[in-house]
Amino acid sequence: MELIDPFGRTVRDLRISITDRCNFRCTYCMPEEGMAWLDRKEILSFEEIHRLAQICVERFDVDSLRLTGGEPTVRAHLPVLVEKLAKLRVPKTANSPLAGKNIDLAMTTNGATLRLIADELRSAGLSRINISLDTLQQEKFLKITRRDHLSNVLDGIDAAVHAGFAPVKVNAVIQRGVNDDEIVALANFGREKQIEIRFIEFMPLDAQGQWQRNDVVGQDEIVATINGVYPLEQVASRGAAPADRWRYLDGGGTVGVIPSVTKPFCGDCDRVRLTAEGQFRTCLFSTTEFDLREMLRGGATDDALAAEIKRAVGTKWAGHAIGNVTFVRPKRSMSQIGG
Ligand code: SAM
Ligand code: SF4
Repeated sequence: MELIDPFGRTVRDLRISITDRCNFRCTYCMPEEGMAWLDRKEILSFEEIHRLAQICVERFDVDSLRLTGGEPTVRAHLPVLVEKLAKLRVPKTANSPLAGKNIDLAMTTNGATLRLIADELRSAGLSRINISLDTLQQEKFLKITRRDHLSNVLDGIDAAVHAGFAPVKVNAVIQRGVNDDEIVALANFGREKQIEIRFIEFMPLDAQGQWQRNDVVGQDEIVATINGVYPLEQVASRGAAPADRWRYLDGGGTVGVIPSVTKPFCGDCDRVRLTAEGQFRTCLFSTTEFDLREMLRGGATDDALAAEIKRAVGTKWAGHAIGNVTFVRPKRSMSQIGG
């Protein structure tokens, strides 16, 4: 049975945060110091994550899972979890191109240690990978992430391509006055590597609450900047995917922009989220959560968990209101929700 929200959108994609911890401290996400980490026992075990994912896949025809965090690769024994989740099968009766097949299992990572584990993750059944990279300049990388790992991330991107992930995508959050001068350089990097760069508009989810509308570099500006150097044509409809995509007219591949602020795609959203400590959320910007961990640990049956997930989806709102007076920042920041 499909999970359909009050606005007629079908849930297809579950984003699972597997840790709130991270080996970077990106300025747009975390403070330099002072994050209060969850205690080990507060975080869902692999068995608990698998059980909830299985309910979503087998009862509700969810066909796509994405592991995120925090930084998912800092969770010990990650390939074990990947192997368990990769075996989940979409029901034969599902209205999905993957009906009767294994789910689409993806991960978003900062790439710092990927060079060491890309092959193992691929063998364990991870199908797709997104790596975050906001700059190609070492000093700026250090300034943005507060860690000196640019060369490791670049090696991680190469390792992901080499391991056979298809596609490998690179996410770049663009901030005014920080890395907006590198839009063409990053696009060029994608063209040379033949991987898709996806520019992301900066969202008000930084832990320090310093986001300002003026810091956002919007989709129109990003596309015009690239088009001025490498002419582009838009690729037809994105469906439920968050990125609008363009093709280089000279055959140099494709580039995407995720316009969460200037052109929100809430009307097509097919996502729900599970935080590292088992709180179910229907939107990045939700101000309510549904405590599945308490149910799991209190002995709830699969039927009861499924009913709670259904109830949560029944409360999904039409969309966020960034920029409107009605907008309320969620209490959690990006790394605590799972981006
Ligand atoms: N640590 C992993 C990483 O950085 O790829 C996964 C988690 S991270 C929270 C997921 C994505 O959210 C990354 O691509 C990151 O750049 C993006 N992100 C974090 N804070 C953001 C913000 N305030 N606005 C827009 N994107 C943000
Ligand atoms: Fe860590 Fe990712 Fe947040 Fe950067 S964006 S601090 S890598 S969780």
